[in-house]
Amino acid sequence: MTPAPDRPETIEVRISETSVCPRCAIPVLLSARYPHAWSNRAGERVDGHKETALCGSCDMSDPAARPLLAALLCADGRPVAPRLDEAFAGLVLDWLAIVRDRTPNRADLDAEEARWRAGDL
Ligand SMILES: [Zn+2]
Repeated sequence: MTPAPDRPETIEVRISETSVCPRCAIPVLLSARYPHAWSNRAGERVDGHKETALCGSCDMSDPAARPLLAALLCADGRPVAPRLDEAFAGLVLDWLAIVRDRTPNRADLDAEEARWRAGDL
């Protein structure tokens, strides 16, 4: 959801001391924490925060991540320290504009649950 129009949005971006990827367990290249709101069962707005991580392995095939990955990885795939300038901030904002409201694919979740229940995970 979008922030309330009367509040500026603060986005906390981390490129060091990041958490591990929840998908593959390697340290993520970047994480972004930002305001997030949703409606509860009563229809009331609930304000909180959401965090999205960029993984140098899992997100390689995501077109939305490619420009940001190019700024964070050298040609052989090793992480590099990015120039923390307006161009880099723009890459982060462009990436977040696409990925922040993605929801999990229900069919993928159901398939993963079935594999977990079958003992395959
Ligand atoms: Zn990963």
